Amino acid sequence: MIQVQQYQNILQKTQEHKAQLVAVSKTKPKEAVQALYDLGQRVFGENKVQELVEKFEALPKDIHWHLIGSLQRNKVKYIASFVHLIHSVDSLRLLKEINKQAAKEGRVIDALLQFHIGQEATKSGLRMEEATALLESEDYKAMQHIRLVGVMGMASFTSDQVQVQQEFEQLQGYFQALQTRYFSAEASFKELSMGMSGDYELALEAGSTMVRVGSLLFGAR
Ligand SMILES: *Cc1c(COP(=O)(O)O)cnc(C)c1O
Repeated sequence: MIQVQQYQNILQKTQEHKAQLVAVSKTKPKEAVQALYDLGQRVFGENKVQELVEKFEALPKDIHWHLIGSLQRNKVKYIASFVHLIHSVDSLRLLKEINKQAAKEGRVIDALLQFHIGQEATKSGLRMEEATALLESEDYKAMQHIRLVGVMGMASFTSDQVQVQQEFEQLQGYFQALQTRYFSAEASFKELSMGMSGDYELALEAGSTMVRVGSLLFGAR
């Protein structure tokens, strides 16, 4: 069910790069999560709110759950009490809602700004101008219950390694620019979430601190 040898390999590679492995368990049964948990994995990613809530309720409470998929504002309330990191903030409106729900829970929620880097027009994410507008807005500056800890992006789905590498380098550039311009006083702004089953090694070479790997660990979906 789970790919134990593959898990050990990926874990070793991510650790060599001082990066974190987010095990993406979407569509996979709770038993598969438990099996990886039993090998020591504590960080899991899901892309749908309902599935995330169900797994959170059924599985050990020391799991760190990451929301990696697009998030509708009306669903933030279901995960605000427990989500460890939201990778997919792509608008000020969404950030405001997360801030509001985090306040209700008496929490500060960590989040990443998702950037559009791939070629596919369908891929969501901010452009640099949108991100700077967000960060310079009075609304954002007033938020007490959000901590932005980095950026996330998905490369194009292509076998062209040079293309993928350039996209990762572009995201790394955005990350550096934001860090210098807005977060130089905040050591917590340090995460660069990039890399999936097909491209995590390239991502690690390009400076990823967090790879999100699903099918290599759990088998094809
Ligand atoms: C599904 C998903 C992944 C993992 O994809 P694999 O190719 O199975 O490793 C990573 N990031 C996001 C945002 C996803 O939706």
